[in-house]
Amino acid sequence: MSKFSMKERLEIPRQEMPTQNPEARRANFAEVTLGYTPELMLREAQRCLQCREPACVKGCPVGVKIPEFIAALCDEDLPRAVAEMKARNVMPAICGRVCPQETQCEALCILAKRGEPVAIGRLERYVGDYELEERVCPSSVRATPTGRRVAIVGSGPAGLTCAAALAGKGHDVTVFEALQSLGGVLGYGIPEFRLPKQVVQDEIDCLVQGLEIEVRLNTLIGRTFTVEELLEEEGYEAIFISSGAGLPNMVRIPGINLNGVMSANEFLTRVNLKKGYRFPEYDTPVKVGKKVAVIGAGNVAMDAARCALRLGTMRAQSNGGVPPEVHIVYRRSMDEVPARYEEFEHAREEGVHFNFLVNPVRIYGNERRAVSGMRVQRMELGEPDSSGRRRPLPIPGAEYDMDVDMVIMALGTRPNPLVFQDAARLERTKWGTVVADEETGKTTACPIWAGGDVVTGAATVISAMGAGQRAAASIDAYLGTGEW
Ligand code: FAD
Ligand code: SF4
Repeated sequence: MSKFSMKERLEIPRQEMPTQNPEARRANFAEVTLGYTPELMLREAQRCLQCREPACVKGCPVGVKIPEFIAALCDEDLPRAVAEMKARNVMPAICGRVCPQETQCEALCILAKRGEPVAIGRLERYVGDYELEERVCPSSVRATPTGRRVAIVGSGPAGLTCAAALAGKGHDVTVFEALQSLGGVLGYGIPEFRLPKQVVQDEIDCLVQGLEIEVRLNTLIGRTFTVEELLEEEGYEAIFISSGAGLPNMVRIPGINLNGVMSANEFLTRVNLKKGYRFPEYDTPVKVGKKVAVIGAGNVAMDAARCALRLGTMRAQSNGGVPPEVHIVYRRSMDEVPARYEEFEHAREEGVHFNFLVNPVRIYGNERRAVSGMRVQRMELGEPDSSGRRRPLPIPGAEYDMDVDMVIMALGTRPNPLVFQDAARLERTKWGTVVADEETGKTTACPIWAGGDVVTGAATVISAMGAGQRAAASIDAYLGTGEW
């Protein structure tokens, strides 16, 4: 418990997170935020008012026991903080780094009304990192084996959370993953400087430790086996589809097929999985132009822009060249930027240029069919559209050319339909997402469940984990009773 009075607690300012300085970090892939020291952690924890009815908990999709873990921090009882945290969130080192806390738990913290909510995410990261270092939480214990077989399709946060919960109940779980490693977007999408691969690896190890989960990497469901074959020929009694939303949306403008145009997903996958972030140790064949335009302004766009800036700068430093100029091109204004504010600020500090209220209309190519420029249209904001944001409208005659030699599209994603091969029983929406019950994850086809981005479209890590947890409870009940 805090040893300070209420008045004293209210006087403690929110503790800043130490970060690498922007000059240095734009030329390396090391983590930008450095984490609280024990002193900063304690001071921040002391700010929590220990509300009787804590609103912050309602803002967390998995209901982390926020006042309880913070009270344990105030007592400097780290093992208790870990136990309180892990009772609800099995990946705190990851969530503490990437959850959009400012719109979730921290948005509802009573101190947010005074403009400075408790830094719940930073404290959560401290607890997660302590656990990865000290391993005070006992490894998962598997219940007596039931012999019931469950297949999980996709190893992102939804699939892994579901797999761990079901294996803990004693079921035989197999995770089928199309890529060469586990983690989904945590591994192939979110860059090293925001979420180090070692943290992802260690937290996944911690989650699946002792649970005897079978993992089948490089196995594409829809091609190697269809979902129906897993049920009819491979002997699985239930399936959880958590294949995410990894298929990028591209705009249909002239020049989209030129060399030097790529999706943010492809670019980030190359930098992450092919170890582009470990330059010069790995000189991954991923092009970075001298002038790069990233279309879009969500988290994915910020990640792509900041990776391009880093890789281009590191290469320039090693060969005496000029660091690249990286531009975000967004058709709305700064007020509508969908990325987390922190990521936007970090990108700006690092020197990414922001071009608001402009939209690409044509990409120019040279005689080698490589990008040589981009025509953009100036926009203005009209009335709000169905998303609630003001609709961008072209200003007639207001077009100009941008001098760029690489264009990265970060305009959202949708589920890859390959997994639905021969799965006609599964109802899908017009956006290609699976129709599934929000509370249980049940689809329209027994015994198939689905959750995470494949159901919601691109969302968040913690919402995918929550869906995995709820589906596991429903699958376990079905295996116990046989009732759908
Ligand atoms: P995914 O993480 O997408 O995992 C799906 C897995 O299924 C993948 O490994 C894929 O290879 C596999 N798969 C697909 N099809 C098949 C198949 N047919 N057979 C076998 N396996 C298959 N969220 C946040 O909360 N904070 C952030 O800061 C944040 N930043 C992001 C940055 C980027 C660049 C991206 C792309 C996303 C970001 N997100 C962020 C969103 C978040 O990562 C996702 O919402 C979350 O990972 C969804 O989890 P999932 O388990 O549903 O799917
Ligand atoms: Fe907040 Fe995310 Fe932690 Fe929940 S898991 S308390 S939403 S930071």
